[in-house]
Amino acid sequence: MATKHCPLCGENTLVDMQGEFRMDPPPNIPGGVIIIPDASWLHCRSCGEDILSHELDTVIGQERYRRLGLLAPEDIRGVREKTGLSAVDMSHLLGVGEKTYTRWENGRSLQTKASDTLIRLIDRNAEMFAIVDAEREPGRDALIGRYFTELEELKGSNRLAMAAHGADMSTEGLEAVRKSLGVLRKDRVLPS
Ligand SMILES: [Zn+2]
Repeated sequence: MATKHCPLCGENTLVDMQGEFRMDPPPNIPGGVIIIPDASWLHCRSCGEDILSHELDTVIGQERYRRLGLLAPEDIRGVREKTGLSAVDMSHLLGVGEKTYTRWENGRSLQTKASDTLIRLIDRNAEMFAIVDAEREPGRDALIGRYFTELEELKGSNRLAMAAHGADMSTEGLEAVRKSLGVLRKDRVLPS
């Protein structure tokens, strides 16, 4: 079997491995043992280190989030991008600091179960969260009224139904929701 130089110990004992990859994370990392059935990686027979590709590392990360019952960082970013919300808007809706939210999106810390639930609900009904957000601010009645009028127009063209099902959202439906959310966001900075 062909061997390569190990970047860690320098020995010419790095071999290709294929099959079940098992990772026992240290106790401070939640999620427990992760097993990936069909993995490829490099293993050093001298120092015993496993060298993982970026792909395998990503798969392991996703599996950890799945086991914890949480959205993976790329899923969180996907929800935000799909709904056209900024990181500031997301942190506002979730009631956490922007830095905290960004850490969840970068995978540098785990979101709470409660926030995970809210992110899933935002995914399914972003406009309702924008309305709830708007309701908390004084002098928003006119704005909310206008927003509902716009939703009625969307409903007339069946775009609202599409927009309510984020996963199947057409470009047209997505643009419509973005536009409505944009109206709310833009008006937030105006004096009431
Ligand atoms: Zn080595």
